[in-house]
Amino acid sequence: MALGEFEIIDRYFRDIGRRADVLLGVGDDAAVLAVPPGQRLVATVDTIVDGVHFPHGLAAEDVGWRALAVNLSDIAAMGALPAWATLSLSLPEADAVWLERFAAGLAELAVAHDVALVGGDTVRGPLVVTVQVLGLVESHRWLTRSGARPGDRICVSGSPGDAGAGLELIQRGGAQTPAMRTLVRRFARPEPRIALGRRLRTYASAAMDVSDGLLVDLGKLCAASGCGADLDLDALPISSALRHAVTDPSVRERHVLTGGDDYELLFTIGEPELAAWPDAAREPACTAIGRVTAAAGVRCLRAGVPVAIEPGGYDHFRAGGTQ
Ligand code: ADP
Ligand code: MG
Repeated sequence: MALGEFEIIDRYFRDIGRRADVLLGVGDDAAVLAVPPGQRLVATVDTIVDGVHFPHGLAAEDVGWRALAVNLSDIAAMGALPAWATLSLSLPEADAVWLERFAAGLAELAVAHDVALVGGDTVRGPLVVTVQVLGLVESHRWLTRSGARPGDRICVSGSPGDAGAGLELIQRGGAQTPAMRTLVRRFARPEPRIALGRRLRTYASAAMDVSDGLLVDLGKLCAASGCGADLDLDALPISSALRHAVTDPSVRERHVLTGGDDYELLFTIGEPELAAWPDAAREPACTAIGRVTAAAGVRCLRAGVPVAIEPGGYDHFRAGGTQ
């Protein structure tokens, strides 16, 4: 290794984000953080593995961004605000150029959300990035997967399916058109929906982030809430990028239903709360895509008629091995 462990930490990871509530950060045996009174600590951790969760050769900036983004998305789904992160980094070699770019991508997103990197670990091994994020939420109200009730509307933010289509484009060797480049960027740079999650604390009955695919994740939310769902296939949002890049409507629908990696928020909301929720607060745009049912299981409806959709029926989508 051209760079020693200490130099790597000192050069790239000592100064990512600054917060007054970091009493002791990178450099000691552990970090000491001040949790404000009246707040709860919200903890999440996610690992991304080269060639498994992102394609080998993905730009280092994007690896850094994604490693933090997937965690911030979990914090968003709780209705919490992120505050601190730790980073456990396993690297095949101490490549200064790669590290600089990786740290820049991570720092860009960290600073955008006022997250301070307060510690971590650095080892030699296959490229594996584990980020833990600690967030804060008011002690009286956070979001869970288990609060959906029959009759609630089901909504999703943004345009799920874009990232999965973007990943497929990367695996096929690239993006030629602006629409394709938009999709690739949606995979490389997911935008955690922190602000939306905060607003949903007031309105939503349940929430989660979509990481494995809309259909599968809706099934998880319903199971956690002890109910089911009717999903209106005709209401699924389809971005203009997906419309332009993928001509076959059934392939588009498959992307929206089964594509993972979008990190949009899936949530349920009662009719009165939906009516009371100001349009201006719906950023990014949220689409009502179905209704919570008392009967267990997710039913897909087209023109009001149930149709069979296999959640895993689009295997080549996952052929590159990301999950
Ligand atoms: P120790 O062996 O006592 O755990 P390390 O040498 O692993 O200490 O780490 C020294 C300091 O650098 C600690 O504060 C640790 O949290 C921090 N650190 C190590 N690796 C990283 C990293 N990749 N990102 C941020 N902080 C790190
Ligand atoms: Mg120590």
